Amino acid sequence: MSDSTRDPDVLELDRRHVWHPYTQEQTAPVPLVAVAGKGARIVLDDGRELIDLVSSWWVNLHGHGHPAIAAAVAAQAARLEQVIFADFTHAPAARLAARLADLLPGKLDRVFYSDNGSTAVEVALKVALQYFANRGDVGRRHLLAFQGGYHGDTVGAMSVGKSSGYFRAWEELLFPVDMLPFPATWIGDEAIEAKETEAFAALDAALSDGVAAVIIEPLIQGASGMRMCRPEFLQGLASRVKNAGALLIFDEVMTGFGRTGALFACLKAGVEPDMVCLSKGLTGGFLPMGATVVREEIHQAFLSESLSQAFLHGHSYTANPLGCAAGLASLDLLLGADCQAQRAGIEAIHRERLQALSLRPKVLRPRVTGTIAALDLDDSGYASAQGPRLRELFLERGFLFRPLGPVAYFLPPYCLEAADLHRAWDTLEGALSRA
Ligand SMILES: *Cc1c(COP(=O)(O)O)cnc(C)c1O
Repeated sequence: MSDSTRDPDVLELDRRHVWHPYTQEQTAPVPLVAVAGKGARIVLDDGRELIDLVSSWWVNLHGHGHPAIAAAVAAQAARLEQVIFADFTHAPAARLAARLADLLPGKLDRVFYSDNGSTAVEVALKVALQYFANRGDVGRRHLLAFQGGYHGDTVGAMSVGKSSGYFRAWEELLFPVDMLPFPATWIGDEAIEAKETEAFAALDAALSDGVAAVIIEPLIQGASGMRMCRPEFLQGLASRVKNAGALLIFDEVMTGFGRTGALFACLKAGVEPDMVCLSKGLTGGFLPMGATVVREEIHQAFLSESLSQAFLHGHSYTANPLGCAAGLASLDLLLGADCQAQRAGIEAIHRERLQALSLRPKVLRPRVTGTIAALDLDDSGYASAQGPRLRELFLERGFLFRPLGPVAYFLPPYCLEAADLHRAWDTLEGALSRA
């Protein structure tokens, strides 16, 4: 692409009128202007191409602008772009719900659509509380969550994610939630059993008959730095929550749709939660949409002659047909043999390269789950200076790479070529030998 395609107004209009998320705009670098996307690459207005190593905030599965999803969205847009979802239904919503129910374990059969990951979590929390109220079990009002967990930016999601530390400005708005220790682990971790024992003890102490639900990011806490736990921990958690009569919510907004290697983290862990929150990869990264999938028995508790027992929650764009069409097309790709091989290939390269790299003293807590690899550069927390430096270096080499504080991680679209992934690891290796 030549310079003549640059639109000089974009940055000026942005500078004057646009407010960017999670950004200190006074000190942030000038934003990059994206004009196109193809496969794992994002094309900039100056003709440069960046390889997307973070799947554009973890949403993209099959690459940018995938023609099959683009065609499905275009065809749906020409037929029916949107319709009110109370009193109406439509084929894309019904079909996508049936396919999600089919792919998720056991009785996770009922899908409530919303707009994003935060709303998928809000819905799960509200359903949990009303479920017990509808059954006359009015004492179950408390929620438990895990230290370091992140569940989104609306008030309920912030309350269960408040230990992430992002929400100090609104602390007095958040409702009380007991926070449990999360037994994070990594390759070569010898203390994991002791950490899990401690976490189970805290859980046992917190699980009373006043607890309605426990929410966790299964296998990987994303935003707090790709902190991973063992499937064994989730199995122990599930049986304890069940015995206590509370509901278990898996926030699979990031881990869903193949990220952990399996289609969903709950399948990989061999656990059937009571609710699963989905978003991010749900539409293959094309459109904002969320879904909360619940066990049919939970849904049954909302059926009665009275409107007050119904779930009085909804969004203007609930079950948007374009999002559902994108979701169906994305699932077709995800279930194909190609995609499975792509994901296995990424994991194999991650493991091989991380093993070599982890011999260096500067590499802390190396870890891999499925298509996600991570390591800590130091112990200095979110304000680490290493992250921004690395990000700049990767940018010079043509990569979109975005450490979370001192945590370097790769979470690429599944279509990323092996050679490009190796070049990303080479870049990290080079940076660490120089540092
Ligand atoms: C990103 C994320 C959310 C919030 O999703 P949004 O679409 O940004 O509202 C919730 N939970 C987890 C685990 C996430 O990674």
